[in-house]
Amino acid sequence: MTDIKSMTLSQQADLLRAMGQPAYRAKQLFSWLHRGATSFGEMKNLPLDLRARLEESCVISHPTVARKQVSQEDGTIKYLWRLADGNCVETVLMGYRHGNTVCVSSQVGCLMGCAFCASTLGGKVRDLTAGEILDQVLFTQLDSGRPISNIVMMGIGEPLDNFDNVLRFLELVNCPEGLNIGMRHISLSTCGLTEKIDKLAEYGLQLTLSVSLHAPDDATRSRLMPVNRSVGVDKLLETCRRYFEKTGRRISFEYAMIDGVNDSDAQADLLARRLAGTGSHVNLIPLNHVEESPLKPSRRVRAFQRRLEEQGINVTVRRKLGGDIDASCGQLRRRARREAEKGGIGQ
Ligand code: SAH
Repeated sequence: MTDIKSMTLSQQADLLRAMGQPAYRAKQLFSWLHRGATSFGEMKNLPLDLRARLEESCVISHPTVARKQVSQEDGTIKYLWRLADGNCVETVLMGYRHGNTVCVSSQVGCLMGCAFCASTLGGKVRDLTAGEILDQVLFTQLDSGRPISNIVMMGIGEPLDNFDNVLRFLELVNCPEGLNIGMRHISLSTCGLTEKIDKLAEYGLQLTLSVSLHAPDDATRSRLMPVNRSVGVDKLLETCRRYFEKTGRRISFEYAMIDGVNDSDAQADLLARRLAGTGSHVNLIPLNHVEESPLKPSRRVRAFQRRLEEQGINVTVRRKLGGDIDASCGQLRRRARREAEKGGIGQ
């Protein structure tokens, strides 16, 4: 069966042309899919016999809500979606002054093994298809009734480890006949797969690339992030400089503040030295404590911020949203799985 939602408009046009249909039919089909239609039967402006033929040869992916949690503090909504094969992924909807941002997952689980992250605890199960990534945006918008203007790829998974599907997703969500979300409204976060960052640079997309740095020195970064053991901080920052030169887009560095691990003055000074003159931006993230991990949130976030600022670095501290609903990605899926093991619901 053909995964129709993962196809671009021109691929759908080819498919329909092969079925003897005029070009405008593809726009109709594409537009139904990108408004969240879940069956060909409801596509009333397509001829009956075409609907029947599509039904026989194609599937329309669509997730169902396995769990939904609404924050009483700030209205953040967290969805646990169940996919067609029973696997679950998380999506978070956050309201900001400038509009609604959705945080999407790119894989079921993750291979990267970062010490502080809940998403990686059970390893990677599989990549998401482009359609399944898009579905998170579509169905979050439909279920919540809140129009989505921004997307961050900061949910479960390493987006650059699922490069082709993620790129296809970006093309789909950016398409004027679909959700038409501009690249400048999209951020993609990576643990720093250098070859894939170079490959992404070739496309010259206007999205914001965020790199999860979390430490300015190899000893600390390798302890926190296994990916650093093969490619150290030097090579990563070199790759980031190349990315900026090629795309003209400044990279934003994420830095989760962990008590006694990466929050010393010496580490702030080293970070400032390494980023000096790049115009890069550092986003400090108060660590979300993961039950299975001994790592604790830092109590030095403001001091670290001030020290970086004194050395000319642009710094923001991520606002904590949805603290009452496990809104940190990976945590809800984790909890649902634990409960399922004990005989509760969820996957
Ligand atoms: N794999 C990608 C995107 C997923 S995570 C990446 O590594 O960037 C999005 C961000 O949340 C990353 O910066 C990640 O390091 C961070 N993160 C993961 N677990 C966290 C936790 N418990 N507390 C704070 N930040 C966390």
